[in-house]
Amino acid sequence: MSEDTVHAQPQGVEQHEFSAEVGRLLDLVVHALYSEREIFLRELVANAADASDKRRFEALTDATKALPADAAIRIHPDKEARLLTISDDGAGMSRDELAKNLGTIARSGTRAFGEKLSDAKPEDRPSLIGQFGVGFYAAFMVADRVEVTSRQPGTDVAWKWSSDGKGAYTIEPATREKPGTDIVLHIKSDADDFLDAWRLRSIVRKWADHISWPITIREGDE
Ligand code: ADP
Ligand code: MG
Repeated sequence: MSEDTVHAQPQGVEQHEFSAEVGRLLDLVVHALYSEREIFLRELVANAADASDKRRFEALTDATKALPADAAIRIHPDKEARLLTISDDGAGMSRDELAKNLGTIARSGTRAFGEKLSDAKPEDRPSLIGQFGVGFYAAFMVADRVEVTSRQPGTDVAWKWSSDGKGAYTIEPATREKPGTDIVLHIKSDADDFLDAWRLRSIVRKWADHISWPITIREGDE
């Protein structure tokens, strides 16, 4: 089915199909990397840092995009709700960017990774992970639903992208207090350890040591 297929839904919710290529890559990433699931956090933190860098660059020529003084990447596990949220104060995504960046594979790196991965022997796959960025879809290794709420600096509209990683995603109007992006992972029942702050901290130390933005980990339900 075409990635442009749009089904009207009530209350401004639009449903889209993933491109066939995204579907294949999702399957590959989720199944081939099972033993390396923790790298989803590296990918999401890297994206948050990229988005923050992008906003800092844009702010050089557009003061309305200036970053808040406390700009950071915030990791928030909520054991009770079984949600893990990764938030940033970055450049955000418009409605169209959510659809384009998270619903299609325009990036050659990801495509090349998918091809290499499907050709590789299982024992060679972990080293491939180090060579390629796996990307946003790694989130579906640990989450059975992912919601992305995003607002661009200089605007007051926000949009929410949501998917169970099984072929389709929705986009709908949302609210967000400040510009930036929240990635909310509904953690799978077999992935409890990714709701543990201690575990998350050790993953961040291992994979995200080089990130130049402050990274905070806060437990609880606030
Ligand atoms: P890559 O980072 O290699 O481009 P990803 O799959 O990790 O590939 O991310 C896809 C795209 O989605 C990014 O290039 C970026 O445009 C967008 N994106 C992902 N996360 C965020 C975020 N937190 N803020 C803004 N844009 C994001
Ligand atoms: Mg990335």
